[in-house]
Amino acid sequence: MEIETKILLAQQLNEQMAPLSLVGRISLIGEKFPKAVFTTSLGLEDQVVTWAIAAIAQQTRSIRIATLRTGRLFLTTVKLLAKTKKHFALDIIEYAPDANELKDYLKKYSLNGFYESKQARLACCFVRKIAPLKRALSGADAWVTGLRKEQSVNRSNIVFAQYDSEYNLIKLNPLADLSLAELTKIISENNIPINPLHKKNYPSIGCEPCTRAIKQGEDERAGRWWWEKDDKRECGLHLPQSAPSPISIQHSET
Ligand code: SF4
Repeated sequence: MEIETKILLAQQLNEQMAPLSLVGRISLIGEKFPKAVFTTSLGLEDQVVTWAIAAIAQQTRSIRIATLRTGRLFLTTVKLLAKTKKHFALDIIEYAPDANELKDYLKKYSLNGFYESKQARLACCFVRKIAPLKRALSGADAWVTGLRKEQSVNRSNIVFAQYDSEYNLIKLNPLADLSLAELTKIISENNIPINPLHKKNYPSIGCEPCTRAIKQGEDERAGRWWWEKDDKRECGLHLPQSAPSPISIQHSET
């Protein structure tokens, strides 16, 4: 499909998804995209999307689910992965870093070198997340995420459907307009398993060494890479279209 066609399709889907319920949005994605991939970090948002995918699994074409096993996840996240597969009777495909790329990264920056510089941090995120994500999205015709506008300043412009030039895919964000209160309600009404860290002030959970609890008044992603001063911190998986790519930064620096 040509890029212009993808952009047009994304615009149409954006309008179609807006009035639908979450399950309606997921159903529409399943119908339109036979090779859609949903990438989950097992966070609160992603657990709700997984629940919605499980809800449509019997009626329509299901959506493939993938997760990134970075090697630095919280034990609670690893346990939740196993629990989620069982709870929803769904397969979640795991993508790990390439052993040789990881070895090179460790040699150059050391295990926790990401605290020392942004360059090292982006390189670690590249090896442990972005390169595996590229493999997870290989052959996909759409990328489903659990992104929400309310999560951070950096995500405030998120729409339901957009063309992602980095991955040349239509990116679908069925939770874009949902509030944390609405998500919590869905979780409690449907007995959706979540990471126990959420109840300890961890609204956003990534790798263990790069995530801390947030303080009152901080935005939901303030606990991610907290030592970096930039308020638009991301690992590079979900870049605003206008931002420089940490992939290209990493390629030029390593
Ligand atoms: S979040 Fe931290 S540990 Fe995880 S990949 Fe990025 S820098 Fe590495």
